Amino acid sequence: MSNELAIYAAHSEDSRGRVYKDDGSEYRNEYQRDRDRVIHSSAFRRLEYKTQVFVNHEGDMFRTRLTHSIEVAQIGRTIARALNVNEDLTEAICLAHDLGHTPFGHAGQDALNACMQNFGGFEHNLQSLRIVDILEQRYAIFPGLNLTFETREGILKHCSKNNALKLDDIGERFLKNEKPGLEAQIANIADEIAYNNHDIDDGLRAGLLNIEALRECEIVNIQYENVKSKWQELDDSQLRHEIIRRMINAVVSDLIETSKALIDTVKPDNIDDVRKCGKSLIRMSEKTESMHKKLKKYLMDNLYRHERVNSMAEKAKETIDFLFNAYIDKPDLLTNEIQKEIKLNAGKEDKLKVARLIADYVAGMTDRFAFSEYERIRNYKG
Ligand code: MG
Repeated sequence: MSNELAIYAAHSEDSRGRVYKDDGSEYRNEYQRDRDRVIHSSAFRRLEYKTQVFVNHEGDMFRTRLTHSIEVAQIGRTIARALNVNEDLTEAICLAHDLGHTPFGHAGQDALNACMQNFGGFEHNLQSLRIVDILEQRYAIFPGLNLTFETREGILKHCSKNNALKLDDIGERFLKNEKPGLEAQIANIADEIAYNNHDIDDGLRAGLLNIEALRECEIVNIQYENVKSKWQELDDSQLRHEIIRRMINAVVSDLIETSKALIDTVKPDNIDDVRKCGKSLIRMSEKTESMHKKLKKYLMDNLYRHERVNSMAEKAKETIDFLFNAYIDKPDLLTNEIQKEIKLNAGKEDKLKVARLIADYVAGMTDRFAFSEYERIRNYKG
């Protein structure tokens, strides 16, 4: 296998660049710099205490958004390297893809979106972009992390046409129905592969799923039989891990081979050909894709809607809703910094801006900070 980047990969020296010009680095290419900026951001560190499916304090062994993002990057890098596309860029996108998530996973995002309904809504994907473009304040000469176009393109996985119109050139592809580069396509699918598999692991460990019942999903059963034909006497943890690592390996191998064949047929000459070719070139075979979808549905019905997950989701919604409305009613409950920002940039009358500042604050909270704010405000006698 050649280590040279394919012609259709994203090449650092041909990047569309950053919004604010800054000096290059002697030792690192542009996408390495993007990855490093993501890793050093405070939004990245906060992922440690944000829920993926299980709330952080339910147990130390469960995935958090941070460990999820690292697993996505691991899978993404394997695929990128096998296809000779840009591993650094893939890693940067994978590590940044969930930065905009609220506390409490999807329940938190739904609750915040409902609170923001009259103020332009809330969407975690747009929020990830907002974090790297604006909210991280670390540099003297520009806002945000000032990432390259290609990393930002990958972070903005989906976007409505309405929202795309409000963005700079990063929104254009949604209006033209174009695809992002292969590195972004890889990050997207690595996300799905990672959570399908680690949610099985967490779900089994939490006792919310059961391996015998899971065999209803062909993709699980194939590897279950493979493992059982080799070893009959494994304990639960060994069996679980032997099955899951085979599942990841089988799906990733299938994805690499199928994508290679597809790229060979389309023969893109450069990254713009990839963007304009009208279809995703990173794909699983039809058979694997259909098994993967069935597993996703199984997890939706049996794990994400499990009563224990649901009751946590209810508590999450209540917490987000309470916090948002408390801050709207009484801005003096907010930090001095945000109060100052409201005075400077919005003024109490500009409700849209005030609501957005509050949404940014709530979205940035970790699960445990949101709970402690909830308690603090409930006991507040102001
Ligand atoms: Mg994710």
